[in-house]
Amino acid sequence: MHSDHTAGLTSVWKHPIYCSEVTGRILHHKLEVNKNLIRPLELNVGHKINLDERGVVTMTVTLIDANHCPGSVMFLFEGYFGTILYTGDFRYSPQIFQEPPLNHRKTIDVLYLDNTNCNPNQILPSRQQATEQIKNIISSHPMHDVVIGLYTIGKEALMVELALEFKTWIVVSPDRLELLKLLELEDVFTLEKGAGRIRVVQHSDVNYANMKHLNRIRPTIAVLPTSRPEMKWHKENNVYVIPYSDHSSYQELSEFVDILRPFSIEYLVKNELCEGYFGDYVNPLNKPLLKVNIPIMVHRFMNSSVWCEPYSSRKAAQHPTVRSFHHIPKGFVFENPEENTQNMEDFCKKEQHFCVNSHLRLTRMSPKRPKPFHKKKKECVKKGYSIIPKCNHHTMKWYMKAIY
Ligand SMILES: [Zn+2]
Repeated sequence: MHSDHTAGLTSVWKHPIYCSEVTGRILHHKLEVNKNLIRPLELNVGHKINLDERGVVTMTVTLIDANHCPGSVMFLFEGYFGTILYTGDFRYSPQIFQEPPLNHRKTIDVLYLDNTNCNPNQILPSRQQATEQIKNIISSHPMHDVVIGLYTIGKEALMVELALEFKTWIVVSPDRLELLKLLELEDVFTLEKGAGRIRVVQHSDVNYANMKHLNRIRPTIAVLPTSRPEMKWHKENNVYVIPYSDHSSYQELSEFVDILRPFSIEYLVKNELCEGYFGDYVNPLNKPLLKVNIPIMVHRFMNSSVWCEPYSSRKAAQHPTVRSFHHIPKGFVFENPEENTQNMEDFCKKEQHFCVNSHLRLTRMSPKRPKPFHKKKKECVKKGYSIIPKCNHHTMKWYMKAIY
């Protein structure tokens, strides 16, 4: 769970959070999210979740290991809207197609894809190969201290492997140690400065000034395990940028999409080139896309306050973790929260319009609706309003904000 996955999550958060058990632990201990709101779900099995008060409309959600950072998962949603696979940040491994639920080639209607590394010219080694590169660098600097620049969480497996290889403690900060304890890893981390040759620092602390300062005291090299590009000052200051990435390489993405062959893809990082690269794998039979209509009961439920009450106060009958692999009927009644009768001027003036589950709503609207959203949006712009899209690829939401 990286910090960019949890923007806005604090002790005052009021809505239920479905997540892996590890993420649940981190959410509570690090961000002090109310325990009653955390709904940890077992991985690789379907969990039925009620989408209305009586449980007439349900969906099944299955969590799949995203192979990204501790606790990270993909979400597979199956329901009246079809089948949606939301990868979040992930590193592809062929293993994913050898275990449930993706071993039985599911038909994916919409794939939300982490395309962070969508560049055919960027060759990324596997994490194991990158680990070997890092080991070689450290081995060839036997008299140097080593600092490794990391984000708050992630790459713990690399740390453990380096500790075992070089038979050294890994020196970390108190905050990081607290987090590492939640992950129940091997006991190779210490707070004691000087106790080990390798020290973990924040990624941003590996900078020009700090490297100059460290090397004045003792010969020091820094390793940045990241797919981000190397800069000129890195080379000149003993900083080694190694493409150890927790995101899929372009080649891995191609293989993943080629096997899945989804009907449509939503790219989580805006990159028009990607659409061209993977276009051949999308909807190969040119089937018409599903028209998604939100059942009225679901609408009512989502607009009520029931679903955001703490879990402990809800009825046992609404337990979200009932397993279900039953066939889920498809068929929809789409309704737009913005009534068509609404005055156009009021529509544009409204401070924040509905959140848009991007592609789904924009392209699968009922033909009965006289004024689809994007047309309304254009009209607002014509009237002199500006529309600000705020796309947060981790929350699947796209807020359209019209400012007067
Ligand atoms: Zn991440």
